[in-house]
Amino acid sequence: MSNKTLNLSPELYEYLLSISLRESPVLHELRQEAVNHPLGKMQISADQAQFLALLIKLMGVKKILEIGVFMGYSSTAMALALPEEGKLIACDINEDFTAIAKSYWQKAQVDHKITLHLAPALETLDKLILHDEKETFDFIFIDADKSNYDNYYEKSLQLLRKGGLIAIDNVLWYGKVADVNINDHRTQKIRDFNTKLAQDSRIDLSLIPIGDGLTLAMKK
Ligand code: SAM
Ligand code: CA
Repeated sequence: MSNKTLNLSPELYEYLLSISLRESPVLHELRQEAVNHPLGKMQISADQAQFLALLIKLMGVKKILEIGVFMGYSSTAMALALPEEGKLIACDINEDFTAIAKSYWQKAQVDHKITLHLAPALETLDKLILHDEKETFDFIFIDADKSNYDNYYEKSLQLLRKGGLIAIDNVLWYGKVADVNINDHRTQKIRDFNTKLAQDSRIDLSLIPIGDGLTLAMKK
């Protein structure tokens, strides 16, 4: 018996994937493409994408906001989990990355569900707030520049309906958050962000040790 989260050895993680992963052929192809990309490691892991997809189905999500698209792995996985009439608003600033994402949205036949906003995400969120989209999103995935996490979180809380979920990636930041000798700007920003959420009475939360750490924050 254990009352702590198990530390996954490479062998155990391989077992976990072999026994539970159901990656669609299109997502598998996209993961292979990322292996050859210098920044390919920015993609969330396949098991994490499967977890997000399960949450989306479980909650009956119809409207998603994604902040940080890259080559489209997480957005494709989430759009596949949406119903036919579901919508995903995707935010990124990089035209080259999102051109790859668009090609996979087409391959996965989810492009009709996705609208890309190619602009700094803070501008896009402000526009959505201005255009009466407050409290209309069921699910928000934050996975862009870490120094803006708190800004994304505050605006996301405005855009999210009550009972909706914000999922925030990389909150364990490769373990750096727990190392007192590491105090660079981004690590400190993530530490401050985690501390703030721990005390935030507007949400219920759970920090899941999947991938690089994923906080789930449900708006009360
Ligand atoms: N969620 C993606 C996945 O799992 O496949 C990975 C996203 S990657 C970690 C972060 C992305 O955030 C990059 O594609 C980058 O271009 C984008 N980004 C960085 N700064 C941004 C900003 N200010 N506004 C919007 N997107 C930004
Ligand atoms: Ca990430």
